[in-house]
This record gives sequence, structure tokens and C-alpha cells, in this order.
Amino acid sequence: MGQDEGDVTVTRRVSPAEPPVEPGVAAVPSLSHAGFGLDGRDGDHRPDKPEEACGVFAVLAADQAVANLTYFGLYALQHRGQESAGIAVFDDVKVRLHKDMGLVSQVFDQEVLERMPGQLAVGHNRYSTTGSSKVCNAQPVVLMTRLGPFALAHNGNLVNASELRASLDHLAGEFTSTTDSELIAFAVQEAVGSGLGWNAAIRAAAARCRGAFSLVIGTPDGLFALRDGHGIRPLVFGMLGEPEQGQWVASSESCGLDIIGACFVDDVQPGELIHFRQADPIPERQRWCEEPSKLCIFEMIYFARPDSRFFGESLYSYRVRIGEVLARENPVVADIVIGVPDSGIPAAIGYSHASGIPFADGLIKNRYVGRTFIQPTQAMREAGIRVKLNPLPDVLCGKRVVVIDDSIVRGTTSRKLVAALRDAGATEVHMRISSPPVTHPCFYGIDTDTQDHLIAARLTLEEIERHLGVDSLSYLSKEGMVEAAHANSSHFCTACFDGNYPIDLDEEVRSSKLMLEPTGLAARV
Ligand code: SF4
Repeated sequence: MGQDEGDVTVTRRVSPAEPPVEPGVAAVPSLSHAGFGLDGRDGDHRPDKPEEACGVFAVLAADQAVANLTYFGLYALQHRGQESAGIAVFDDVKVRLHKDMGLVSQVFDQEVLERMPGQLAVGHNRYSTTGSSKVCNAQPVVLMTRLGPFALAHNGNLVNASELRASLDHLAGEFTSTTDSELIAFAVQEAVGSGLGWNAAIRAAAARCRGAFSLVIGTPDGLFALRDGHGIRPLVFGMLGEPEQGQWVASSESCGLDIIGACFVDDVQPGELIHFRQADPIPERQRWCEEPSKLCIFEMIYFARPDSRFFGESLYSYRVRIGEVLARENPVVADIVIGVPDSGIPAAIGYSHASGIPFADGLIKNRYVGRTFIQPTQAMREAGIRVKLNPLPDVLCGKRVVVIDDSIVRGTTSRKLVAALRDAGATEVHMRISSPPVTHPCFYGIDTDTQDHLIAARLTLEEIERHLGVDSLSYLSKEGMVEAAHANSSHFCTACFDGNYPIDLDEEVRSSKLMLEPTGLAARV
């Protein structure tokens, strides 16, 4: 399907293998990292793990197949969003945009990529936080201005989306989506329309936004990369080839650089705007805003890939370290330590190092599980359908087991997991969580459910132990989580563990996640 609008061509693919997806209709379940069951969601399809919001990626490189490079970058960032994917490519004449519902490998094939030549590409993987799961909400957002078209991809979530939308109400007839990302794009368009150049227009638009936003923006004058003042969502940049070639790449995580052989240069710093120009070996870096750094610490614990680098080391190393701290803080007598694949494995290895209890593979993950549109029947759910994880009785039978997971949100999948470990013969199950209790919802681009569904916001430790059916349950302390990062403790957002939101939330936003008077474990923070 294609649509040519002069400077911008939009295409969309619906393969015969996929269910029909019409704009404004589709509601497609996404995968969590480590759900125990069909897709990490329970019967009402709410996630039982925090779900990442989005991944952004961009390449500026003449004489390179930028669409293909962006495809691979998005492929590396697939864990950040599985509902839709899109790439916009600029050549000297026009912008070609292709986006659709599905995984990167479902949305793009070689034929589509070959129809997207150019020197600058902007790509996006989406998991919906603001705006529902519809193809019209897929990104990048491409808009026209008096200076030509631009393509914007956003990771994060604005907390003043209603206010921004109200200020752009005169453009409401032109909105094609329900996302805050499109509002940012319209703010850029409006600023350009008022006579500003790209750089000033992007800064002016960013100044109207409050919340989390890591942006990559392709323009006829090159590529811009920007992070909000607190730098809540990550964004890094690197280069392809030799420095004098001036070929630049921006990515939500460094694993996106690695996959295409780009070398890491630096983080886009919190409150920084970087302008990369075609074949220019020196990008223009400037602060558009000064705020204290508040990187989402959940990126380090769980969301970002373990091979992505934060603070000069891979997250694998950090996650092993928090496992070591967890063992020191919460020892237990047991025969084996197992991790919930994949995100619980490094912390389980760390727990094993520090405790001396042998590490074992007690849970096998189906690594080839893709998104499925087939939902299990109620009878299948009750029978404990195990699509993603399967316990190994040979390893577990007769053993006192320490099982390490990265977090508990609602507790529904943890409860099934514990039952399955006991079915496999574990004599004791001690659950250790490599993060503090999740007691507050996230408003900055992560789906952690409403507060009334967070098990640690409602129940005491003993009640959670009983609910999960474990012999014991302990969490990593907040101090241990932050100290293990080897970075200044004030540099992180830890709001979902302590309710200290670094960006003010007005009542309308708070009530959207049913913020409550704290009870249960939440009453302790
Ligand atoms: S509230 Fe939690 S998930 Fe959200 S940005 Fe802060 S630390 Fe990350």
C-alpha cells in the first residue's frame, strides 16, 4: 500500500500471514522480556513486567544503505518495543516513510528497504504508553515545514501532553495520531513556521515539553539528537568508518551501534542537543536545558540489553554486581541458584558468586518464541500453558532453590512460576528480587500498570510471600541498587521504588495511574 504526497511517500505493509490490521482498529499484544506463560501477560492481558516504551535509531551517512543499517539498528533495539516499527529515509528529493504494526522483521523486507535509498534514516520501535496500539500511532512522525520535511522519533512520555495539546489545538484538524510524540513534532513544525531555523525550532519545541523525551530528528539540514533535561531515557551516538567521513549514528542503546559496526562516541548528555551534518566530522553540541541528571535506573536493572554500555561498562556487569549485593543483603541456605531467563540470569550468577551456592539452569526459555496472535483458552491457562519458560525437573527435583528475578509488578506470573518450580520437584523455593519493591507507577515512558495493581503497593512482605507460595521472599535494597551502579546516587530516577518523582505530576496525570495512599510495602518507603 502506498501513498505519494509530493515530498513524502508513505507505505505500509500487511502480509497475508498477519491478521488484518486497519488504521485505528488493531490492538496487538506485545511480548514482555520474561513472562511466564504465553506472553508475559495474565488473563486480562495486562503486563506482569514493566514494559519498555520505545527504541529510536538514526543514521546519517552518504553512500551507505541507511535504510538497511537502520533496520539492523532497530532489530538490536527490538526489546524496547514490539508493537510497531517504522523508518523514514531522506534523499535529495523526498522522504520515504514505511511503518506498520509488528516486529521489525515483520514490517520490513529487502524489497521494502531497497525502495528507500537516501543518506539519512530515522527509525523507531514502539510500545504504546501514550496513545493506543494502532498503526496511526506508529513512528517516525513525518511533517512538512517551510524548510522542507522532517521525521521525528521519540522515546519517553510527556507529563504535560494535555497542556501541550491544548496549546496546539488550532492544529487539531491535522493530528493523525493520539501520541505525545506527534505533539512534539507539531511544536517543531509550528516553531519553524514562526521563522526559526531547525536548531532553534527544536529547542523551542523541547522547551514546551515536560517529561521524558529522547528524540532523533531527521531534517534536510542533517540529523538532530536531543535528550530531556534529566536524561530519563538513554540515547547514545557513535560513528561509522573514519572520523573524517562524518558518518553518524544515534541509538537508544549502544547495542544498536555494535550491530552495524559503529563505534561508540558518547552519550547524548541530559539536556543536550546535538546537530550532525552530512560529512561533517565535528557535530555541534549544545546544552538546551540545565537540570539534574535522572536516568531511569530500571533501564539498568531490566529494560536495556545486558550488552549495552552505561557508565563505561556493560549492564551485564552491573547486573552481576546487584546479584552479589542481593546475596549479601539476603542470604539463605539452599542447594542451587537459578535465574528467570533472560533478565534474571546475570543477577543469579552474581548471587551464586557471592553466596557460594552453585548456579544452575533450572528454567529453559523458548528462544524462538515470537509474537503469537493465538490466545490460549481458559482451560489451557488453568492447565498452566508454558510457551516461554519450562522448568527442568532433572535440575530442580529434591533441591532447595533460590530463584532470582529482576522485579515483581503484579505477581501473577511469579506465582505461576513458583507453582511450576514446585511441580518440577523443588523442595523449597526462595525468591530473591534484584530490585526494590515496585510501589509506584511510572509516568516517564514505562508501563508499570496502575498503582492499585502493583502487588508491593497493596500487600506486606508476608502477604506477598503467601500469595506467591514461596518459602521466603526478599528484595534488593534501594541503597544496594544505587551503590552497585558506581555512579552518583542522585543521578537516577528511582520513583517507582520510592515515589520521588523528579518531574512534577499534576493531579490529572497522577489520577491516570490511580495513585493511592500507600499501603503494604509502599508504606515503608
Ligand atoms: S519511575 Fe521507575 S521506570 Fe519510570 S523512569 Fe523512574 S525509575 Fe524508571
